Amino acid sequence: MPAPPVLVWFRNDLRIHDHRALAAAARQGPVVGVFLHCPEQWRAHDHGANRLDFLRRGVSALADDLAGLNIPLLQRDIGDFAAAPEALGAIAEALGARRLHFNHDYPLDEARRDHAVTRALEARGIRVSGHHDGVAFAPGELLTGQGEPYRVFTPFSRAWHRHLEAERLALSPTPAVQAPLAIDGEPLPPRPAMPDEAVVASRWPAGSRAAEERLSRFLRYRGRHYQAQRDFPAVAGTSELSPYLALGMLSHRQCLQAVLTENHGRLAEGDTGLAAWVNELVWREFYRHIVAAFPAVCRHRAFQPHTEALAWRDDEAAFRAWCEGRTGYPIVDAAMRQLVSSGWMHNRLRMISAMFLSKHLLIDWRRGEAFFMRHLVDGDFCANNGGWQWAASTGTDAAPYFRIFNPTTQSRRFDPDARFIADLVPELSEVASKQRHDPPEAERRAHGYPTPIVEHKAARQRALDAFSALER
Ligand code: FAD
Repeated sequence: MPAPPVLVWFRNDLRIHDHRALAAAARQGPVVGVFLHCPEQWRAHDHGANRLDFLRRGVSALADDLAGLNIPLLQRDIGDFAAAPEALGAIAEALGARRLHFNHDYPLDEARRDHAVTRALEARGIRVSGHHDGVAFAPGELLTGQGEPYRVFTPFSRAWHRHLEAERLALSPTPAVQAPLAIDGEPLPPRPAMPDEAVVASRWPAGSRAAEERLSRFLRYRGRHYQAQRDFPAVAGTSELSPYLALGMLSHRQCLQAVLTENHGRLAEGDTGLAAWVNELVWREFYRHIVAAFPAVCRHRAFQPHTEALAWRDDEAAFRAWCEGRTGYPIVDAAMRQLVSSGWMHNRLRMISAMFLSKHLLIDWRRGEAFFMRHLVDGDFCANNGGWQWAASTGTDAAPYFRIFNPTTQSRRFDPDARFIADLVPELSEVASKQRHDPPEAERRAHGYPTPIVEHKAARQRALDAFSALER
């Protein structure tokens, strides 16, 4: 009798290398992969065309990689992921599978989905195993001296480094090629209709091979300069690996192992560029722990409850101007146009544009969070929610509410030649570079560029008043 197949349910972990669930399954028997497409659920979670297009291409690349190991990938469109227990139960029964493995997801709905699947399959006698693959420490493993989850990044990061034993970063073995099964993989279900078209296919080739190449290029050419260059959007100074990490085409362990190799076995010391980059990967993990420990943020509640009472403004025209890159603040407009045209935005610009919406325009950060999610190819609930709440001063480590970036000062500092602005806001490309950060009115008129929709000082004061009116 052939051994029954072992199922691996892939979600945001679209790779065959260093995959905890896949490696565990391969030790138990021949593997069959499953991917459940849930377009209704994804739409409800604001996933837009760019992320879905990248995901579909990633699933297709995963199917090819799995086929190289003789592992078929079964794909089903189940609409909403409430149907996952039934769909997985039916697949397991049809194949005679007795075990299912997956890697944990931490946002509330996904964690509930996984509980429901575990209960339903175990009721059918199928053993379900979840693995903490996307983090070095499972949520709850790193706690403060009082046994509480960390609420602030720096002590979390210190604890992360202090407790990191080598095996937490050990790569899981890629399964050996298995004997072919009499089960065929299944093609992608038809593409769901999307309100927008994806803009990103050529810029973001999907799959692990592309991700691994990008990682090695980053470490070879940019890693050592990361600290010095990471804040300048006109310079390609960061890894641009976020889409690959968000959908698990690359693991954080692969990134950290590559740093260890380059940096003589060190993560936090040695080369300052590489150490600064590691710090960003720890931020990524921190926000996963936050989401797991404070699930109210998954319902878009403010991490700091007293900020729920903030009197956000209802200003549709200003919101539209922000979305469309027509605020009259060139750096903000360049940022928003980068997002909409490429599906990605530089981190410095995410901070500037998010702070502009939530402070200068005093528009609820949740609207910006959703807009980002609809356009980002790297849309990741934990990082996006964490970043927005940080910028809006409602979250962990929130920028104190009185620290409000002056967009023009940020522009002069981080885009000194206004090159980035010239590229993204072509109507300003003829304006002298020094004036491009804040063109005089006559230049604005001559080039069809709008007058600022708010005046910095007045808008800053309005935000300060709104925050200081909050009772703690
Ligand atoms: P690098 O600088 O090369 O960093 C390496 C990796 O570390 C990134 O790929 C990412 O996985 C992680 N990382 C870096 N910075 C952060 C951070 N602040 N928080 C969490 N993880 C981080 N990141 C996303 O992956 N998805 C999002 O939806 C997202 N939304 C954001 C929204 C706002 C308002 C802000 C301020 C930040 C957001 N970030 C998000 C974090 C960060 O901006 C991006 O991860 C980064 O710009 C991606 O570029 P990179 O891959 O070149 O990053």
